[in-house]
Amino acid sequence: MLEHDVLVVGAGLAGMQAALHAARQGASVAILTKVHPVRSHSNAAQGGINAAMEEDDPWEDHAYDTVKGSDYLGDQDAIEVLCSEAPETIIELEHMGVIFNRGSRGQIDMRAFGGQARKRTCYIADITGQVLLHVIYEQLMKAGTTVYEEWFVTSLVRQNDAVCGVVAMDLRSGELHLIKAKAVVLCTGGAGRVYEPSSNALICTGDGYAQAYRVGAPLMDMEMVQYHPTTLPGNGALMTEGARGEGAFLINADGERFMQRYAPNMMELASRDVVSRAEQTEINEGRDINGCVLLDVRHLDRNIILQKLSQIRELGLEYEGVDIIEEPCPVRPGMHYMMGGIKTDIEGATFVKGLYSAGEAACVSVHGGNRLGANSLLDTLVFGKRAGTSAVLYADAISTPEIPESRLQQDQELINGILARDGESGERAAELRLTMGQTMHQDVGVFRNQRGLEKAKNIVAELKERCQNVGVDDKGKVFNTDLLFALEVGLMLDVAEAIVASALFRTESRGAHYRTDYPDRNDDDWLKHTLVYARLSGRAGDGGPRLEALPVTITQWQPARRTY
Ligand SMILES: Cc1cc2nc3c(=O)[nH]c(=O)nc-3n(C[C@H](O)[C@H](O)[C@H](O)COP(=O)(O)OP(=O)(O)OC[C@H]3O[C@@H](n4cnc5c(N)ncnc54)[C@H](O)[C@@H]3O)c2cc1C
Repeated sequence: MLEHDVLVVGAGLAGMQAALHAARQGASVAILTKVHPVRSHSNAAQGGINAAMEEDDPWEDHAYDTVKGSDYLGDQDAIEVLCSEAPETIIELEHMGVIFNRGSRGQIDMRAFGGQARKRTCYIADITGQVLLHVIYEQLMKAGTTVYEEWFVTSLVRQNDAVCGVVAMDLRSGELHLIKAKAVVLCTGGAGRVYEPSSNALICTGDGYAQAYRVGAPLMDMEMVQYHPTTLPGNGALMTEGARGEGAFLINADGERFMQRYAPNMMELASRDVVSRAEQTEINEGRDINGCVLLDVRHLDRNIILQKLSQIRELGLEYEGVDIIEEPCPVRPGMHYMMGGIKTDIEGATFVKGLYSAGEAACVSVHGGNRLGANSLLDTLVFGKRAGTSAVLYADAISTPEIPESRLQQDQELINGILARDGESGERAAELRLTMGQTMHQDVGVFRNQRGLEKAKNIVAELKERCQNVGVDDKGKVFNTDLLFALEVGLMLDVAEAIVASALFRTESRGAHYRTDYPDRNDDDWLKHTLVYARLSGRAGDGGPRLEALPVTITQWQPARRTY
């Protein structure tokens, strides 16, 4: 049986950072990923990474902007860690070989990003994630860490109340393996594709949320789903907020910079929830162009566009046939990021022993009700390091667990069942996935209400039933992506269930969660997190998720009215 002290699942920035810091402590560490490490979604991050680097910018100001951006739902102890450790994180990246864009004095240049009172975003053109991910990957190779590349975790193994390994499929051979680990760190990224469309890669299916949920770890604030204001209408591809940071306008069908009516001070650079709601209101009230508003950079210097926004110029040309130098580009709010996730403390520990998490999969919580752009890359690195380090400390203190080989059978039977049906006799994963995604977008998107949420809840429950009968046409063993899609959709439906249940539970509007039937923020009743637990088999209940609330940690910033 394969065996390690610490097994990190996911090789995005969070996973690689966790593995690197665990390895530096001499532990036996492996990292496992369903795609090649540098194809993880972190690679797609465009705009940048926040840090208060300048002398007249104390980290407390970054923390305050983050707290306000979170609509006071972020835990302030965690936000203090995030922002105070940001500058050293950037310097560490520089020392590894990341070459950030420079300002006129040769210092690391900063660009403006939404919801922040000043320029605080370090960047590399509009390919920041790609550069970071490649540089950290080099470090991982240098450390000689074992990489299970193109392996897919099908479930976590929990014994005697502790997680002690995973069951995973080697996609090249189709074989299932048990991997024993004293500690497992889930860095499996977000769940963008539970919605359709989404700015996220097709692989962002939220596997880790569902797998943690299934072994009893609660998920926190899952109703907080970020819609990014500038995604392309066709496929949901992202046009970075860096464009507005460089000075882009948003205009409606009348050519009006409509943000002046919603956020007169910050305009296009108000926080994402505010801009997305403003856009959706313009669209709903008929001041749209085919369901979109326009992103306008025509007034910017051509060289700025060519040098700092070249990727989004390509995206506009390729997908919309629009050259942003000449014409404004249609955009609309699109699903982008999960603020919620597997509940962890500031050391990355979940509520289940042996299970750690970091990155978009985790909820520490530094983003609360709304994440500031460019705070997520920072989150992956700061808390990836902490999760990797604390997983080693835990692993050092326990003896190697025993897992019976027979534990594989459960997952093998699920897979055999899927392979025994085909797309004709069974359900097609693609159809379940599309119905789920469209339902979530329509009823659990920018605006929500009880009726829509109840409707979504029923559709998700029905899809879960149908998913028991999912089948595949490809019966092969080698790279069976048909089978992979079928396994993923089962996990995604659990994530959808958790999001809808949490959205129904929170009867107020805060951050990205806007209930038209409860339009106000209600600090008296709801200055708290939602925790959602799966009903584990054999326990009492109606089979649906169980919800609890948890107080928000407040250190130095009292909740106040939020305007931009
Ligand atoms: C288009 C786009 C642009 C963005 N731009 C920015 C930005 O400019 N600044 C910013 O701060 N944030 C940005 N974000 C958000 C940020 O990029 C992500 O939140 C962050 O990179 C997530 O990193 P991660 O390490 O948590 O997960 P990911 O990078 O998504 O990695 C997840 C890993 O988990 C693995 N995995 C998942 N499930 C399984 C399984 N079942 N078995 C095995 N392996 C599995 C995957 O293979 C992958 O390696 C952007 C996001 C998108 C989508």
